[in-house]
Amino acid sequence: MKELEKGLLRILPPARVKTRLIDRYAYASDASHFFLLPKAVVQPESIEEIKKLFAFSHEHNIPVTFRAGGTSLSGQGVTDGILVDLSNYWRKVVAENNGNSVRG
Ligand SMILES: Cc1cc2nc3c(=O)[nH]c(=O)nc-3n(C[C@H](O)[C@H](O)[C@H](O)COP(=O)(O)OP(=O)(O)OC[C@H]3O[C@@H](n4cnc5c(N)ncnc54)[C@H](O)[C@@H]3O)c2cc1C
Repeated sequence: MKELEKGLLRILPPARVKTRLIDRYAYASDASHFFLLPKAVVQPESIEEIKKLFAFSHEHNIPVTFRAGGTSLSGQGVTDGILVDLSNYWRKVVAENNGNSVRG
């Protein structure tokens, strides 16, 4: 866990890398019946940080799962990998092309 945390702290500041058990439990559930405990919860602010998280995921073979409101009912927002919480920092979504695409 320490190695994972150290790696994530090279991408994001400590306030946006959560590895305490209480935080991992707090973000573990979505609206489904499924439960997996993420190894870490991260809160990226920029596309650059997201790119680095994907590279980290690839390099260390740990899946990343994105989570917004967590209202999906089939467990899509749960993971035992890295949970990427977008609920705080990704609110500037603009609908384009008559609603056919969105840009964050
Ligand atoms: C009462 C109720 C009624 C519903 N009715 C409908 C309905 O009528 N029609 C319908 O289509 N759905 C319906 N849903 C499903 C719900 O609307 C979707 O699950 C919801 O849109 C998911 O959004 P979320 O922000 O909560 O995402 P989450 O639950 O956090 O995630 C949902 C999925 O999207 C992924 N994800 C989240 N954000 C991103 C991102 N920025 N980039 C990439 N992947 C991402 C997650 O990894 C996960 O796989 C309903 C849900 C509830 C609880």
